Amino acid sequence: MPKDKTVFVCSSCGYESPKWMGKCPSCNEWNTFYEEKLVKSSGTKYEKKKEVVPMVLNELEGKEVVRTSTRIF
Ligand SMILES: [Zn+2]
Repeated sequence: MPKDKTVFVCSSCGYESPKWMGKCPSCNEWNTFYEEKLVKSSGTKYEKKKEVVPMVLNELEGKEVVRTSTRIF
């Protein structure tokens, strides 16, 4: 079973922590941590992957195609 791991990274200095921290112990900045997912790749090591927001462009393009193809000349 593939299991995703989450790590929190300081956007200021790059410090990594397995749990959320309000203050970075490395650079002493507040609220600089952001969540990053570690996705297991084909190898054995984990690979960093940023969250991607699903796009709705394909759906919009599909509707456009239907609309134009049904036009009667
Ligand atoms: Zn930091």
